[in-house]
Amino acid sequence: MNIDVTRDQVHRGDLLLVNKDNPVPEGGAETEAVNLYRHKELLDGFGLLDSSIMLSPDLAEKFSTMVDAAAGEGVKHFIVSSGYRDETKQDELYRQMGADYAMPAGYSEHNLGLSLDVGSTLGEMSDAPEGKWLTENAWKYGFTLRYPANKTAVTGILFEPWHFRYVGLPHSAIMADHDFVLEEYLAYLKAQQKASVTVDGKTYEIFYFPVAEDTTLHVPAKGSYDISGNNTDGVIVTVRL
Ligand SMILES: [Zn+2]
Repeated sequence: MNIDVTRDQVHRGDLLLVNKDNPVPEGGAETEAVNLYRHKELLDGFGLLDSSIMLSPDLAEKFSTMVDAAAGEGVKHFIVSSGYRDETKQDELYRQMGADYAMPAGYSEHNLGLSLDVGSTLGEMSDAPEGKWLTENAWKYGFTLRYPANKTAVTGILFEPWHFRYVGLPHSAIMADHDFVLEEYLAYLKAQQKASVTVDGKTYEIFYFPVAEDTTLHVPAKGSYDISGNNTDGVIVTVRL
């Protein structure tokens, strides 16, 4: 099938890489984020550290689905300590915490709106059942532990057992299977050009295409599809066969 894409799409979607080398693209940040304290209907299965936390309703629902599953296994002391941060808030944090502990405005995944910091009322996430459960199971719900202990050389960020990023299925499943962080997964897709995976009985084919200008992609598969940029040089087309 053929798919028309614009250059802009390199900087839109759930797979955008945001790190010290790749800022949040202009217009690519979450604009649907709401204050969760004022939208208590979205607080399903988790609490809030304070009254300033923002998240898009869509991401809050995805997170709720995941923590509901955890509650079914007796793990249910989740609190969210940070979600979407606008650049003003990020700038404040950067000034307070310093460069060792915070990213400058525009370079934090929190400015993108697809990440959240999760805590446990039982203690540190590195020890709490909530942290252990998420580390093992988050991939089933499209989330990934973004800064694991064994990948600090790749991410450039110290171990953050609380920071989870939404990338969506089937990507989180492949990342878990290969023990990839987002940097590694996007590099893998670019090198392979193509990947196939079956998750929950559904088969997907994933293709990487470089995109330098508005163009038409010739995708050698047919089905419903999602498209996301990588925020650097191309797009990933995920076809459900
Ligand atoms: Zn975080």
